[in-house]
Amino acid sequence: MEVLAGTKMTLSSYLEWAQHKLAEVASPRLDAEVLMAHSLDISRTVLMAYPERFLNRIEAEKFCSSIERRVLREPVSHITGIQEFWSLEFAVNDKVLTPRPETEILVAQCLKAFAKIPSSPVKILDLGTGSGILAIVLAKELSQSLVTAIDNSAQSLEVARENALRHAVAERINFVSASLLETDWQRPYHLIVSNPPYIESENLSKCMPEVWQYEPTQALDGGRDGLDYYRFIVPMAWEKLEENGLLALEIGHTQAEAVVALMESSKRYKGIQVVQDYSGYDRVVLARTVNG
Ligand code: GLN
Repeated sequence: MEVLAGTKMTLSSYLEWAQHKLAEVASPRLDAEVLMAHSLDISRTVLMAYPERFLNRIEAEKFCSSIERRVLREPVSHITGIQEFWSLEFAVNDKVLTPRPETEILVAQCLKAFAKIPSSPVKILDLGTGSGILAIVLAKELSQSLVTAIDNSAQSLEVARENALRHAVAERINFVSASLLETDWQRPYHLIVSNPPYIESENLSKCMPEVWQYEPTQALDGGRDGLDYYRFIVPMAWEKLEENGLLALEIGHTQAEAVVALMESSKRYKGIQVVQDYSGYDRVVLARTVNG
């Protein structure tokens, strides 16, 4: 690697070398390009316009070391410190779950539900906010909204606050450091949204190495059957929502039936709806509260 970093080579030959080194990862070429753009501090589009450009020593060293990290399966988002979500850039690190594209379905469903009343301030609670994506995107898109975002990790909340400042919505989000399972949530809300940990404990080690080696277990581990958080959230949310308030939850793709059953057996929800992601997997469950 040192030899390579010191050698005068073009951008396209570095990319070829990297693609070869990353043969084991899911998208070698894309990752190599993203890491090259990051190393040169330019966009991927600009990058593609100069394939014959030479890298200077500092650029080459930065690129080679980022490829070495990726070879060890560190996520691209941890190397660059950035993940795009809802066409916005969010700071991420190993203390928060890197936003997944399928979580955009959850955002889209919430926005659809509140599209008709944009002028009244929507009061929103985001449970387990992590990097803050749900709280921040909803605050941005629903410009009158007031959001409470809770997380039990102070380090997560630091990332979330930084992201809220970056996207100029910090003054409308109240970040609360509290455990999802213990906090006495303030109330009432029009919308409670959550992407809770939902992976079955014993399946964690079967996830991609990027996930189980580098991402925070507490953002992923949903207990023995992956449903621990839903068992808590479904009954509690009813108490904290206005009548006809919306509960919107991301779920694992095998969990729709169980989460719907939790809602049905509580007899406190109506209009229960399961929504699929772009791959056709069940991904979101929505329900409105009925008056007790
Ligand atoms: N979708 C994530 C994954 O499969 C899990 C997110 C979660 O537990 N909320 O890696």
